[in-house]
Amino acid sequence: MKVFKFGGASINTVERITNTGNIIKSFKGEKILIIISAMGKTTNALEKVVDAFFAGRKEDALQLFEQVKESHLSTLKYLITVNPKDPAGWQQAENQLKDFFTEVEWLLHDKPVREYDYYYDQIVCCGELLSTSLVSIYLNEVGVKNKWVDVRDIVRTDDNFRDAYINWNYTQQKVKADIEPLFTEFDIVITQGFIGATDENESTTLGREGSDFSAAIFANILDAESQTIWKDVEAVMSADPKEFPDAENIYALSYREVVEMAYYGAQVIHPKTIKPLENKNIPLHVRCFLNPELPGTIISNKPVHNLPPVIVLKKDQVLMELSSKDFSFVEEKPMSQLHEMFAAIKIRPNLSQNGAISLLCCLDDKAEKIEKLALAASGIFDVQIEKNLTLLTIRHYTPEKIQELTKGKTIVLEQKTTETIQVLMR
Ligand code: ASP
Ligand code: MG
Repeated sequence: MKVFKFGGASINTVERITNTGNIIKSFKGEKILIIISAMGKTTNALEKVVDAFFAGRKEDALQLFEQVKESHLSTLKYLITVNPKDPAGWQQAENQLKDFFTEVEWLLHDKPVREYDYYYDQIVCCGELLSTSLVSIYLNEVGVKNKWVDVRDIVRTDDNFRDAYINWNYTQQKVKADIEPLFTEFDIVITQGFIGATDENESTTLGREGSDFSAAIFANILDAESQTIWKDVEAVMSADPKEFPDAENIYALSYREVVEMAYYGAQVIHPKTIKPLENKNIPLHVRCFLNPELPGTIISNKPVHNLPPVIVLKKDQVLMELSSKDFSFVEEKPMSQLHEMFAAIKIRPNLSQNGAISLLCCLDDKAEKIEKLALAASGIFDVQIEKNLTLLTIRHYTPEKIQELTKGKTIVLEQKTTETIQVLMR
């Protein structure tokens, strides 16, 4: 069995959905579990619906949601022709989408009484429910028999909305009991990534870009022979080509390297994806849906040598300097208090460095969290903040690369291991 994950860009137009269908067709006879993201920028559009709803702008929320509805309904119209011999078939397809619309609209008519993250998950989850329904309906229409599954019946999570934590035992049992048997009748099973549900049937999400991780959960439990992520790039690259035009394709990577890249902020693959695959030694392929002939990148347990410098640039960084108030050393107690604050605020420093009486932390500039942290930390430290910094990480660095990328910048903080250099720059 294989697991495929198609990202939002692979299905953002009728043409792309057809293309994705052709890729799936080319694997005729194989058993494949397919995870599909929301179409194009649907998740972002749904986030706007949530914002409007939560701000009490109900009419705006409904209006914004209307656009999401229309784009999906019109895609459905182009994808499947109304068959005069089977008008009920079309109606059934339309109804499947409409059920999800109704789920959201019901909620939008209420007033928000719970926390933002709860509503976020109830609304945003419909992006993948809609996209997977469209693809499933289309494939059945063109003769690729498949089974669509609402993943909320399978993937159980806690109620940490927007960053829900998987209940592995329950999910594993469900996959074995409800998904595995489907493959005796169907070659293709289609379901959603990124979403799950609590034991109270509330929808949850696993964090942005979480579909890669969902696919890995299924690959692990189903003991898949491989997982493939279909993207719009030819391979994993050594840097973001928009920022670094000389970025190179990398055709083989180790799990370890990818975990490191994701940790430092490379937008390659969702950071949680690798563990479930590594644990069962399942290779991960990254392939291009625009050119499925290309081999793409293979990620496995084999160490890869002679990698080019891998560059990650994180903008909008904050440097927080925490100094002891009375010139005493920053020892265990204030350190552990600080770590408790990080955990409570759910923020993680991208880089930190200890001195005798002060501590430096580089953090993403999430304004609300930074304010909370500064306020909490000011109970035990003097707090100073500098904003608008950039954090450069280079793995497999060379002196030339460091020089090239730091030229003309002021270095505020630097850390180096044998493999990785991190430079915070002004
Ligand atoms: N649709 C979600 C997002 O855009 C999840 C995903 O694509 O992985 O973040
Ligand atoms: Mg995506």
